[in-house]
Amino acid sequence: MTFKALITENTDNGYQSRVGERELSDLPEGEVLVKVAWSSLNYKDALSASGNKGVTRQYPHTPGIDAVGVVEEAEQGPFSPGDAVICTGYDLGMNTAGGYGDYIRVPADWLVPLPDGMDPRSAMVLGTAGLTAALCVEALLDTGLQEDQGDVLVTGATGGVGCVAVSILSRLGFRVVAVTGKSDAHDWLKNLGAADIISREDALADANKPMLKPRWAGVVDCVGGDMLVNALKTLQYGASAACCGLVGSPQLNNATVLPFILRGVNLLGVDSVELPREVKQQIWQLLASDWTPDLAALEAAEITREQLPEWFERILAGGVRGRVVVKVG
Ligand code: NDP
Repeated sequence: MTFKALITENTDNGYQSRVGERELSDLPEGEVLVKVAWSSLNYKDALSASGNKGVTRQYPHTPGIDAVGVVEEAEQGPFSPGDAVICTGYDLGMNTAGGYGDYIRVPADWLVPLPDGMDPRSAMVLGTAGLTAALCVEALLDTGLQEDQGDVLVTGATGGVGCVAVSILSRLGFRVVAVTGKSDAHDWLKNLGAADIISREDALADANKPMLKPRWAGVVDCVGGDMLVNALKTLQYGASAACCGLVGSPQLNNATVLPFILRGVNLLGVDSVELPREVKQQIWQLLASDWTPDLAALEAAEITREQLPEWFERILAGGVRGRVVVKVG
């Protein structure tokens, strides 16, 4: 049986993506066949579609690290045909055919049930970005962070992870300061719940100084590089930064141990990919209930698979504001 999928190939003109046909037998062995309804666009999808070997080693390939849909075939429990499920992370869309195909076939423990109270499309407005943002917030709350301790900084704030973090933190009562490189996005971020905005240039100033004036009660960092280093240098005594991304740089060239040994600050690593399924499920429940961000305000666009190539370029250039949901089924 054939089905439609976005296919990325290594051509004479570089890596190119187009909607084409694949066979069910092209999908890897797995326990559960899912008919995909919606997917989403993440930075990592654009890396996969542009030939980044750290993400995808073999082409032709179908990217899409997020998928929501309905179980069509299941070898054994816990899922049965007809169940609505979410698949994010693990190897989906990396070296396993991903959510930009009509079907995915994956191990059962890559799936979580779609939480009660959440519709499939909303799950993909959130996607891996929303899950990661929620994990960052949870990591900070686990250190004891409370609203009266001061401002919480979010970097890369108009990006997928950043904008969901702004919305959740503000919903939980925190005063959020957002760093953005987009001078035309200030009102948009304020509408999402940011109390104040800092430009990317200001957030990167004084990168060569070993310490800076303490300001933040907590940080959600999607950028890495000097952005994260400066955030560490401006944390209050004993405060923490949750680190999840590298759009700026994976290197911490200007970092020293001083913020750690003089102010007792903490660097918290956040990973949404290999996270145990039970934890993923708990976080999805939170996203469907007490932590639901402002989904309408977060959504940038609903697109088709045919439109993905142009959106890959936009997200790689840091030009997307908010979350992009991809109609599949
Ligand atoms: P997006 O591209 O949607 O957002 C990133 C944002 O960062 C941009 O919108 C822009 O926001 C800002 N930005 C872009 N380039 C630069 C730069 N050179 N310097 C400083 N800021 C920049 O990406 P996602 O939100 O999907 O992902 C963010 C990061 O988190 C990525 O590195 C991704 O790989 C990682 N990630 C990690 C996960 C994990 O499990 N650890 C899961 C999901 C994502 P603005 O213009 O507002 O500054």
